Amino acid sequence: MNERITVAQIGHPILRKKTLEVKFNKISSSNLKNIIDKLILSMRSLNGAGLAANQIFYNLRICVIELENNKRYKHLPNIPLTILINPKIKVLNKKFTFDSYEGCLSVPNLRGIVKRYTNIQVDYYDENKKFHSKKILGFPAIVYQHEIDHLDGILFTDKVYNNKSLVSYQNYKVYHEKKYLERIQKKFSKDKY
Ligand code: ZN
Repeated sequence: MNERITVAQIGHPILRKKTLEVKFNKISSSNLKNIIDKLILSMRSLNGAGLAANQIFYNLRICVIELENNKRYKHLPNIPLTILINPKIKVLNKKFTFDSYEGCLSVPNLRGIVKRYTNIQVDYYDENKKFHSKKILGFPAIVYQHEIDHLDGILFTDKVYNNKSLVSYQNYKVYHEKKYLERIQKKFSKDKY
């Protein structure tokens, strides 16, 4: 990509608007295809696990997710590239949750703990107008919820339930990351959730 990638930062109004649904007949248009390509390229070049269209200034209900051979989350299942158009989440079991230490490309230098469900269903269209209704379990469910929250104008900071968990990225790396990765691997690498 030649142009510089700019990601909307916390405080920008576009991050707080509920995004517009994509009309079914526009799903495979060349305009939409260009936006999706830009989302994928931006996510990959910024090393994100996902990116929502409003983070790159398109007010549309589209996000992309991909987690492959991530060095930080070894032993976790990969998430192949997934393009979600007009996604909707249904929580399948509210009893299954995980305290997720999150960060966001739109919230510089901050991490905080958010309670996420680990047993959800996601309904969406893909870029070929095909409808999917998928059960998403375990760690991937956390990534889906973070990205789909963006499409509803919600940032992870809205859901941090104990402000004392807020830390700078550098202090996360020094004081919290090791313990958190151990907790993730204990919880998710054995398919127990
Ligand atoms: Zn984010």
